[in-house]
Amino acid sequence: MNAFIPPAKPIIGAEEREAVDRVLLSGMIAQGAEVASFEQEFSEHFVPGRPSVAVNSGTAGLHLGLLAAGVGPGDEVIVPSFTFAATANSVALTGATPVFADIEPRTFCLDPDAVAAAITSKTKGVMPVHLYGHPAPMKELVALAQERGIDVYEDAAQAHGASLDGHPVGSFGAFAMFSLYPTKNMTSGEGGMIVGADEDIARRARLLRNQGMERQYENEIVGFNARMTDIHAAIGRVQLTKVDAWTRTRQMNADFLDKNLRGVATPPVAQGANHVYHQYTVRVPEDRDGFVAALKDEHNVGAGVYYPIPNHRLPSLRRYAPGLELPVTEQAAAEVVSLPVHPSLSQGDLDRIVHAVNTVAGAGA
Ligand SMILES: *Cc1c(COP(=O)(O)O)cnc(C)c1O
Repeated sequence: MNAFIPPAKPIIGAEEREAVDRVLLSGMIAQGAEVASFEQEFSEHFVPGRPSVAVNSGTAGLHLGLLAAGVGPGDEVIVPSFTFAATANSVALTGATPVFADIEPRTFCLDPDAVAAAITSKTKGVMPVHLYGHPAPMKELVALAQERGIDVYEDAAQAHGASLDGHPVGSFGAFAMFSLYPTKNMTSGEGGMIVGADEDIARRARLLRNQGMERQYENEIVGFNARMTDIHAAIGRVQLTKVDAWTRTRQMNADFLDKNLRGVATPPVAQGANHVYHQYTVRVPEDRDGFVAALKDEHNVGAGVYYPIPNHRLPSLRRYAPGLELPVTEQAAAEVVSLPVHPSLSQGDLDRIVHAVNTVAGAGA
């Protein structure tokens, strides 16, 4: 059989290895000049005019961002249930209550009407996820938030470079978080970037990252050690110079799949949205798990299911949502399959993915 096509593949080149070596040889490896440069370059690249704060994971970025935004016990934050558990986990870790709202069936992102219905007197904010790299409906969500007096926070873990009507994700909320985990659109090894709406929230995030200190041993607040190392920042700086080309390749791969796949529902893109295809996610309404197994067993094509269990059904989070029904979320969790779309795919790989999907989907019909 042909070689396995993995669902994701981080690309690490000679430049990243040289950058790591340079930092190691310098002897200065903890948070320092590389992190400061990475933060500045990240802002310039993705969200010009907004300050970035690097941390040691995307999850830490969400947690610290929410704390910096003043979220805490007694507050509610509305989140999708159809996402990685880090979204709701970070809300729960602040002591606030995650409130799950349903999604739009086409883009898999939060449904503004469902969010409106979930707002209570305790709602502090709403945290849309730009899931799979598709921007959430920010125009409607920001308008709703303004009208109802709540904040917006963006989980942009999967959406480096995505935009809506020309506005980049990360420019809509009080803060946004971008993950730098290896399978994301760019990586620093592990890491996350908080992008703040203003210097105030960025400063609070910086304090929380480093024991509440701006000046050494003059701790102002109780904080964490969530610092990024200069080693990781050096990797991230190199990746920043490559991510746009990778995104264009992801978009070309997605275009090829859109045009050639048969028998599955390909992912629609909302008007004005620039989708960066962290995942290329189709729907398979009948026997999704059999479909994924056949791709793997018969064609050696790795497909992923993100996410099979909605957050409000997880043992860890269901206590926040007793008896809650989210029909669009449940259906998505039962039907989605993410096909490889990453920039390391060759034309031969893409042809094999199309052949595999069309054969398996045709056989099931
Ligand atoms: C990856 C991810 C996170 C968490 O990022 P880490 O860097 O893995 O901690 C949060 N939210 C979403 C939607 C993600 O995909």
